[in-house]
Amino acid sequence: MWQPKFAHTLKKSTFLSGMNCERRMWWEIHDKGCEEMRIDLTTQLLFDQGNEVGELARGQFPGGLLIRRDKGNFVSSFANSRAAIADRNVSVIYEAGFVALDTMIFADILVRGPDGFTLIEVKQGTSATAEHRYDLALQAVIMREAGVPITRFELMHLNRECRYPDLSNLFVRDDLTKEVEELIPAVELALDHLLPVAKRNNVPLAQLGARCTAPRECAFIARCWPTVDADHIRYLYRLNKDKAVSFEKAGVSRIQDLPDDLMLGAVPARQRRCLREGEIFVEKEALVGALLNIVHPVAHIDFETVMFAIPRWNGCRPYDNIPVQMSAHVVDADGNATHHSWIAQDSGDPRLAIGPAIVKACDGVSTVTAYNASFEKRCIELVADACPEIAPRLREIAEGIVDLLPMVRDNLYHREFRGSFSLKRVLPALVPEMTYEGLEISEGQTASAQLMAMLYRQNTMSTEERTKMEHALLAYCERDTEAMIALTSKLRQLAQ
Ligand code: SF4
Repeated sequence: MWQPKFAHTLKKSTFLSGMNCERRMWWEIHDKGCEEMRIDLTTQLLFDQGNEVGELARGQFPGGLLIRRDKGNFVSSFANSRAAIADRNVSVIYEAGFVALDTMIFADILVRGPDGFTLIEVKQGTSATAEHRYDLALQAVIMREAGVPITRFELMHLNRECRYPDLSNLFVRDDLTKEVEELIPAVELALDHLLPVAKRNNVPLAQLGARCTAPRECAFIARCWPTVDADHIRYLYRLNKDKAVSFEKAGVSRIQDLPDDLMLGAVPARQRRCLREGEIFVEKEALVGALLNIVHPVAHIDFETVMFAIPRWNGCRPYDNIPVQMSAHVVDADGNATHHSWIAQDSGDPRLAIGPAIVKACDGVSTVTAYNASFEKRCIELVADACPEIAPRLREIAEGIVDLLPMVRDNLYHREFRGSFSLKRVLPALVPEMTYEGLEISEGQTASAQLMAMLYRQNTMSTEERTKMEHALLAYCERDTEAMIALTSKLRQLAQ
């Protein structure tokens, strides 16, 4: 039988994983050092933001006692927590740790009341989820087992309606006492079931389904989901993973084998038809009509953004996507392209400088396009909020953006799209010569993390590293708008 390294087998995160999938929990415990669990820059930035949120939340309950934690050795933390609970002079405790039922938890904030404590779990999200309720219920079970009376359960999360500089309503506190009390029996049963599973020497079987992508994509998906062909039922447009598994169980593993009498939406129906007839299927007449919306000169525009849990510029809310980089290619009727780019140089409000750069890039153009334009529109609207003098022009640009994504999604399908219309899937299928290969940065999440690190984490990069990173970011964003030129020209070819 496997022996835990510490005096406990489960902790909050592994328990919550186990509630969703035993196999995931098992790997998180037994294969901790694996590549899938490596903490990359994006994850580290999330942790850092979480710590910042936690500190601000504690500030709302001043004068508390912080129980410090030694990395890898929680014995003193548990002892100090017990002492703080016993000391009636301590009215607020932060980060108290408890171990019971072979499970360890740390409570964000405990506030002493006449009959027991209020437990406040702090989350950097903007609403309460089912997982948060189970999180609180697990803490309730462990703390009560450890002899700590808890009388009220609260979730303290960020408030999307809060706007900088007024952070007085940054947090919302939800009283979840009733729901948490109701969940406790289920959590006790789950603990009884999961603890022996966690201690097993062999990995539990995969139970593929919606759990693999919700509430978030599982890190181990590549281990469990076999590689399949482009016509696999798994790739049916917007198909829930549970449904994909049930189709397979019923013997339908290829999209083209879905029966004719199965009613499908327009996009999956086109997908089925394409896979039956060949590699690519184009609704030519409709595509010709859609392309009429692109009139030269045309600006293809793309932004890279950063997102802060705690807003830092006027009018911004938690998790607003703030553009800190822009690439725009302006193409005239003869196909000549001019490139415009802009990238933030410091930690000040980037909207003040990117606003004029957007207006300049779009000066004199007849059409502005973006791929998945709702994102670019929202970015420009946020910039307009900060630039009143040019706000009318910025809003005009945002309102007029022609979105290339629905132009593709609603008019054609290529088998290599594999059910996705993201530019990273569409481009290699339609324009294989235009790739992101060889670029140091090749996807948006990495770009965003690097921008966060470069602009807002002090002293983490030398001047040389920063220059190199800036070049990599500029090259990546430029490739996105080059890709839009290539894609538009391919769409025109396909429409002929
Ligand atoms: S991919 Fe699915 S089955 Fe595999 S560990 Fe993750 S959630 Fe479990």
